[in-house]
Amino acid sequence: MKPFDLSGKTALVTGASSGLGTHFARCLGAAGASVILAARRADRLQSLQAELAKDKIAAKAIDLDVQSSDSIVAALDAAGPLDIVVNNAGISIVKPALDMPEKDWDAVVDTNLRGAWLVAQGAARRWVAQKRPGSIVNIASILGLRTIGQVAPYNASKAGLIHLTRALAMEWARYQIRVNAICPGYIETEMNSAFWKTPGGQKLIERIPQRRIGKPEELDGALLLLASDAGAFMTGSVVTVDGGHTVSSL
Ligand code: NAD
Repeated sequence: MKPFDLSGKTALVTGASSGLGTHFARCLGAAGASVILAARRADRLQSLQAELAKDKIAAKAIDLDVQSSDSIVAALDAAGPLDIVVNNAGISIVKPALDMPEKDWDAVVDTNLRGAWLVAQGAARRWVAQKRPGSIVNIASILGLRTIGQVAPYNASKAGLIHLTRALAMEWARYQIRVNAICPGYIETEMNSAFWKTPGGQKLIERIPQRRIGKPEELDGALLLLASDAGAFMTGSVVTVDGGHTVSSL
């Protein structure tokens, strides 16, 4: 048995149109899975699908807005039978808590927590009806374990996602559905790469015990462990991948 092999499995990745979601789709595909690329930007998903096809990775692009329960139901119906769900779609809005409007709170919490919840519930309902096992990997954040300023709804939504992971793991273990979370630390993607070169970015890096930020591929081990049979006895686990950031000296 090859424990990390995903041949014959189908994995849905939310927010696959950029950053870590695109990377996770590639990683799961390279491990043998067929991937369902689910996000709002169809053009980006189409080009990712074509790129994956060149590497002989089967991929299907589907429209998904995790803020809409109708869109989630339609996407899960369009996806067909799944084995793995990666709840990766997420947003952040940066404002002091005193100035954070209700609509910004709603947008962040509805995407990062309510969206992940509805996708997990929809997938699990289908798995239970089909008597099929499943694995859900929630992409939380070290900001669900520690805090930084000006992103209160993000901090709260990721803390909520971590505890939701534990609650669902407990309820759904009897159906052979595993639910785990990854808490990435700071990971370099196209969107934030310029920031790490600024004085602010460099100052932040000094507080990370490994004195560097992570690369997307450094999340692959945790993702494949939790998604595959290698993690068969893991459910309700919260895995930090952060260069030691959450154990930094106070
Ligand atoms: P990103 O902005 O590149 O990716 C987020 C993805 O989610 C995008 O593709 C976006 O279109 C999608 N998305 C947003 N709202 C959506 C909606 N309503 N419906 C469907 N898709 C939606 O950022 P990223 O850095 O790749 O982040 C991916 C995940 O990893 C997020 O959940 C983020 O909180 C988490 N994370 C990232 C880091 C990091 O350092 N990059 C660290 C910790 C956690």
